[in-house]
Amino acid sequence: MTEGRNPEQGSLLDAQALAATAADPRTRIEELRREIEHHSYLYYAKDAPAISDGAFDSLVHELRALEAAHPEFYDPNSPTQRVGGYVGEQFAPIRHERRMYSLDDAMDEGELDAWLDRVEEAFGGMVDVVCELKIDGSSIALTYEDGNLVRGATRGDGTTGEDVTANVRTVKDLPLRLRPDARAGLADPTRAIELRGEVYMPKSSFNALNAAAEANGKQPFANPRNAAAGSLRQKDPAVTAGRDLSTFLYAVADERALSFGTQWELLQWLSEAGFHVNPDVELCRTRADVHDFCRRAVERRDSLPYEIDGVVVKVNSFSRQEEMGYTARAPRWAIAFKFPPEEKTTLLRDITVQVGRTGKLTPVAELEPVRVAGSTVARATLHNEDEVQRKDVRVGDTVIVRKAGDVIPEVLGPVEALRPADAEPWAMPATCPSCGSPVIREEGEADYRCISIDCPAQALERLLHWASRGAMDIDGMGEEIVSRLVEAGRVTDVADYYTLDAVELSLLDMGRVNKDGEPIRLGETVAKKLVAAIDASRTRPLARTLFGLGMRHVGKTTAEALAARYPSMDALVAATEEDLAAVEGVGPKIAHSVHLFLRTPDNVAVIERLRKHGVSLADAAPDEADELPQALAGLTFVLTGTLVQSGMTRDEAGAALKARGAKVSGSVSKKTSFVVAGEAAGSKYDKAVALGVPVLDEAALLRIIETGEAPVAEGDAEA
Ligand code: NAD
Repeated sequence: MTEGRNPEQGSLLDAQALAATAADPRTRIEELRREIEHHSYLYYAKDAPAISDGAFDSLVHELRALEAAHPEFYDPNSPTQRVGGYVGEQFAPIRHERRMYSLDDAMDEGELDAWLDRVEEAFGGMVDVVCELKIDGSSIALTYEDGNLVRGATRGDGTTGEDVTANVRTVKDLPLRLRPDARAGLADPTRAIELRGEVYMPKSSFNALNAAAEANGKQPFANPRNAAAGSLRQKDPAVTAGRDLSTFLYAVADERALSFGTQWELLQWLSEAGFHVNPDVELCRTRADVHDFCRRAVERRDSLPYEIDGVVVKVNSFSRQEEMGYTARAPRWAIAFKFPPEEKTTLLRDITVQVGRTGKLTPVAELEPVRVAGSTVARATLHNEDEVQRKDVRVGDTVIVRKAGDVIPEVLGPVEALRPADAEPWAMPATCPSCGSPVIREEGEADYRCISIDCPAQALERLLHWASRGAMDIDGMGEEIVSRLVEAGRVTDVADYYTLDAVELSLLDMGRVNKDGEPIRLGETVAKKLVAAIDASRTRPLARTLFGLGMRHVGKTTAEALAARYPSMDALVAATEEDLAAVEGVGPKIAHSVHLFLRTPDNVAVIERLRKHGVSLADAAPDEADELPQALAGLTFVLTGTLVQSGMTRDEAGAALKARGAKVSGSVSKKTSFVVAGEAAGSKYDKAVALGVPVLDEAALLRIIETGEAPVAEGDAEA
């Protein structure tokens, strides 16, 4: 395996890591085999899976890794050694002329490369391969005799399939007769030929089918693949005929039946013979081409009218395929590059409890790390005790973890069949894991809280919150440094930040040692930057300071609303609870919390120390605009040229005029009251003169701004 070759690689390593956690590999192997059989039965026989393909594959991978590590437990009947499938009794069995195989998976680019390595090893270099989309449907084998469709069979267990001829005949896009020119590609046109491909249900038809099922109170299908398989395996062909099924063909049972020798030619021939062949195929000569095709497939996936679950890469030459041969369940000459699954299974190692800055206790799933949807997941919030109990996840469980795209990872639930006998239901501890104080859960609330004022976990969270970007934005003040400061006893509340100096910070022991065994310190450069960042945070707007204090229920928006109404801490402290509740967006619950916070002696002390250390606790007086008399209301000004005397930009001058109620426009018209002409005024000046609009010079403008008085239009115009 090409370990470490590609950062995306992870699936195999995940499976190996997980397998290594099994205390009793033999039992685990047996349990996994049983569980996989159970889900295969639901999937293949009932067309009704109970878990996602990603979670299922994850179990199979773990089993495979365990079997590889413990060859003594080899069993030819293990699901890893067989083609998954089922032969139902309602159909006559059909023995396949040649076995129908499954495909081995490459779960990421690293595993794809490992397969390409094996191809190169087999032939002493890269050979042509064909990339096809992996259609997520149901395998089908079709036999044509004398050019006529005589038999259709499912894959079944790979050796024996189910006779679904009557149903297959109803699939509209499947030719019942080969086109005459197809004969040219047959080695012996008098012999029967078995062709293979996929029956699938387009996404739109699947949605319509499920909508109808739901409207009629029937069980919907889990996905288009199960819908296709279920529709094909109907007792009554009339039901199949009513389902919108389509096909793509891509294989022949025995290549010796053909007069040519490559997969690429086979696809052309199938198309000429009258079959639907997927147009998204490529003959690739290099690894880079293969990777490109796979990446493009990932991008195109959602825009296709049918579902695909990967790309199948096949050695092009039939004779080379034979040379590489088969394992018990899959060809060695092909690989299925699977799209990153959004769900996987992993071990729930522990449930820890995190204490937030308001004392809220959150259970957190500590997982054996797995790569899901492109990133490694090692922890996931379990929200609260009720949630843990509702999902019934227990320490030691194999759990299904989901992460779709950028979405936060989630533990969906346990695989109960794999639960250790001694796994206990989980309950919130009675005391805070940080300070040991008893925890409480108030009536009607989902959360437990630690209400101790001395809880160090809360202190750390509060300190981090104050320094965070949305609050006081102290650049560089992250968890590691804050933890060290707390441990050193230098910082216990947010006001302590403002007592730190660069020398002291530079000597802060980071709790690690260098190769000579000396303690690593924060260092001068970082310390200086930190002090500058602390300094810069002294002048943040009040809303940020209020948010930074971490009052319960006061998020950013509420903090802004409070600061807009009470632009200083003193004004806010003076407000009654009723006053606060009357602020738009605040209400009684928040008002109570703010009022209480501002009257709690410890908090008052912190606020006073912040004030003492020069942290601004009031917003600058509101813009002059609010207070200036609106003497210029109703007048429209146009500014042109450069204001050399004052050095103001036109925008600044415009803002000063607007602050006194004027409108400022970019173009001169009859409605313009005054044009202000600076140096090198151009066409606007000319237009003003032409229209008879009074023109002011810069001195007149400055007079207006200074005195706040409107110019007298007539007579005062200085043309
Ligand atoms: P597979 O579906 O991953 O791959 C083999 C199949 O791919 C072939 O039989 C063929 O039908 C199909 N295929 C589609 N396009 C192809 C192409 N262009 N060329 C060649 N073959 C192509 O393997 P499988 O053994 O049939 O089934 C395993 C799949 O079924 C996995 O995805 C697994 O997750 C899913 N499964 C899920 C559950 C569940 O409970 N969710 C249970 C069992 C199996």
